[in-house]
Order: sequence, then C-alpha cells, then structure tokens
Amino acid sequence: MSVQRRARGGPAGRPSPAIHENPFDDVLEQVDRAAQVLGLADAEVELLKHPKRQVIVSLPVMMDDGSVQVFTGYRVLHDNTRGPGKGGVRYHPDVDLDEVKALAAWMSWKCALVDVAFGGAKGGVACDPSKLSDGELERLTRRYAAEIFELIGPNLDIPAPDVGTDARVMAWMMDTYSMKRGYVEPGVVTGKPIVLGGSLGREAATGRGIVIVTREALHDLNISLEGARIVVQGFGNVGSNAARLLAEAGATVVAVSDVRGGIYRADGLDIPTLLRYRSEHGTIGGFPGSEPLTNEELLALECDVLVPAALEGQLHEGNAAQIRARLVIEGANGPTTAEADEILRERGIPVVPDIMANSGGVVVSYFEWVQDRYGFFWPEAEVNHRLEEKMVAAYVALRAAIERHDLVRDLRTAAYTVAMQRILEARRLRGLYA
Ligand code: NAD
Repeated sequence: MSVQRRARGGPAGRPSPAIHENPFDDVLEQVDRAAQVLGLADAEVELLKHPKRQVIVSLPVMMDDGSVQVFTGYRVLHDNTRGPGKGGVRYHPDVDLDEVKALAAWMSWKCALVDVAFGGAKGGVACDPSKLSDGELERLTRRYAAEIFELIGPNLDIPAPDVGTDARVMAWMMDTYSMKRGYVEPGVVTGKPIVLGGSLGREAATGRGIVIVTREALHDLNISLEGARIVVQGFGNVGSNAARLLAEAGATVVAVSDVRGGIYRADGLDIPTLLRYRSEHGTIGGFPGSEPLTNEELLALECDVLVPAALEGQLHEGNAAQIRARLVIEGANGPTTAEADEILRERGIPVVPDIMANSGGVVVSYFEWVQDRYGFFWPEAEVNHRLEEKMVAAYVALRAAIERHDLVRDLRTAAYTVAMQRILEARRLRGLYA
C-alpha cells in the first residue's frame, strides 16, 4: 500500500501498526479487537464482517467536448439491522470498492454509537471533481443517482455529502430520484440546501458536536473547557465551526491552520474577526496580531486539546512523539494512523475517536431525515438542543464502556464495543430470516 493510499484509506480505528493493503482489513481487525474485549465468539461477529450489499456501476458521461467518458461508481450497504443505510458519497480519484466497504462499516459503528436509527452505507465515484465542469459534474451525479436508483431511498439507504461532494450535488441526486419516482422525495438524501428540505443547524453540527465531546472529555481529565488552550488543524467546515464554537464556550483557541499553514497567538485568536478576515482576504495567513507557523509546528504546540480537523493520516509515526496536547479530539475522519494511535496510547494521551468526536454531523443528518419524513421543520435552537442530548448520551455510553472494560488508554476500542453491542443486540432480537 502506498503512503497516500494508506493515509486515505485509514479512517477510524486501525488498531495495530500492521500495514494493510486493504482498508477493509482494518475494519476486520478492529471488529476482532472489540469482540475480544466483549468476549464474543467468532460466529457472533461474523456477519459484521460481511457488507450486506456491494454494488459497482459504470457511468457513461457526455463530456463538454462531446466525448463520452465512463466512470466507475460504488454503493455499499454494510448493515441495516437498526434502520436504513446512511453514508456519504465521495468523489475522489482513489475511490475503490475496498475503501467504500471500510467507510460503510465505519458509518455503521458511528450511527450505532450515537444511537440514531440508521445502519451504515457509503458510496463514491472514482473521479477528480476539480477537473470536471459544472455540467459534467451534474451529468455524472445524475447518472450515478439513476444507476443506484433502486438501492437508495428514505427507507433503504440515504446518501449525504462527503469528500468532493456538497449540498449542490445532493440537490441533483434528490431531483433525479424525485423525477424518476414521480413525486418530490426530499428524504432520499441529507445535507441538502435548506430550501429543498435541509435542516437548520446541519452546517455547524459537526463543529458543535466537537465542542460537546471536548467538554465531556476534558471533564474526565479534571480540566475546565473555560480557558482550555485549543489548537485546531484545518479551518474548513469542521475546523472553523469547532474553533468558533469552542471560543464561544470560553476556550482559548491559540492556533488554527489550513492547507497553506497556520497562525498562532499565545493569548488566543479572535475567531469571529478571523472568519471575517478570511472571507475578505481568502486566507488566514497574515491575520493581524498572529504569528505564522507550519502545520508540523502547529501539531507540536503545547496545549490542552489538539483537534485534527483536516485530513486522514495527519498524526503519524513520524510526529506522534512530538504531540504535546493533553487530549486529542478527532475532528476529521481517520486523522490518526494506527502507528500514531499506539504511540499516543503508550504516552498516555487520550484520543477521542472520530466515530464519537465528529458524529454531530450524522446526528443532524438524522434530524434532517426525520423532519423530511414528517414535513415539519424545527427551529435551529431545537436542532441544537436535541444534538446536545444525543451527543451527551453517546459520551455517557462511551464513558461507561471505558470503565467497564478498563480501556482508559484505548477510547477507540471502547467506542467500538458500544457500537457493536448495539448492532448485535438488534440482530439477536430480529433473529435470522428464513
Ligand atoms: P473542508 O474541505 O471544509 O476543510 C478541510 C480543511 O482542511 C481546509 O481548511 C483545508 O485547507 C484544510 N487542510 C487540507 N489539507 C491540510 C493539511 N495538510 N494541513 C492542514 N490543513 C489542511 O472539509 P470538512 O468538511 O471540514 O472535513 C474535514 C474532515 O472532517 C474530513 O476528514 C471529513 O471527512 C471529516 N468530517 C466532516 C464532517 C462534516 O460534517 N463536514 C462530518 C464528519 C467528518
């Protein structure tokens, strides 16, 4: 496996430094690790190792120059024991079946951990969206939605945005599905524009969830969120909302970064002013009163909380020994490689795993689906209040698993035990059909 493939393919919970060619092997290994903690027999977890459905589709798309290019698309439903499949659609050149299978399984754990009535799914198209015109992107999306039409739907499997896709892509998917059905069906996707049945509060939901999880995890370390020194890597949807809301909650955000580098201010950055500065200048670099620093320097800053909220594989074997945070909160999917996980565990730095830390997004996606289904939309305050309840309940369940299984140094495995137990209990109650 190339470094790039490994970094991209490794979200959520690679338990050992063993290098895997196939990211789905990481899923299998993590399932075994949690099964061992739970004392489960192989036969009990066998079904979790087999996605329910894996589909590959060929997508002929008319390009702007009149040629026809054939793209490959995927949709995997990993598990639907607790509800319809839920998971994003990724547009990226490296998308392949094994990656989509792994991402679908990670969605199963995330939805079970936050206790929303969804199973896990994921999809994607191997393409580089930055090289497609708007028209090509729309035609590709509509053909993909048409090819998986029979597999998706509010009762079956509900796509959402992921890397390389956004609300506009969801609008095209929703329109294609609705045209083929013959009626408007907003609940077929989440992460839609508000005017098409999206939910208030969805955009900031992942960042808001990170604040709740950070507060709970700091509480367990006897550190107050008020005045805690925070470093955020990545200043996109997740990172900028997390930084803004953490500062609003009284924390001191001392450094943030984007792909071009970071900025630091010892007594805290004024995040609302920084957001205005970025929208005017298109960059966070040169923000008055801040000092520049590289992303590597940023990750090594002494702080209470480090929130990697950019990309996969950012905390790795080469830099994990330099991390000087007291707590790591995984804002991105898979920011910590298996090797770094091991090093941080040995160094006693707790890592709150992505399936817990960034699950605010899927919680509000669930709320969006609920609102679409009954056609009545909640005010933002209600969305945020319900998000708080869901996130705290999930953290309470995680905390109980940490204590029960003595996993204070391995929050990732503790989170997996909660998720797997919930899915397996539902399976036992449903029994084996036919
Ligand atoms: P985004 O594209 O809005 O932002 C990504 C940010 O990371 C940008 O500021 C970019 O400049 C920065 N970045 C890219 N490469 C970097 C590097 N090498 N060093 C430092 N910064 C870098 O994406 P997003 O929606 O904020 O998602 C970020 C991560 O969170 C992804 O892993 C995504 O899968 C995950 N996630 C997102 C959501 C959501 O609701 N958006 C939910 C769950 C998980």
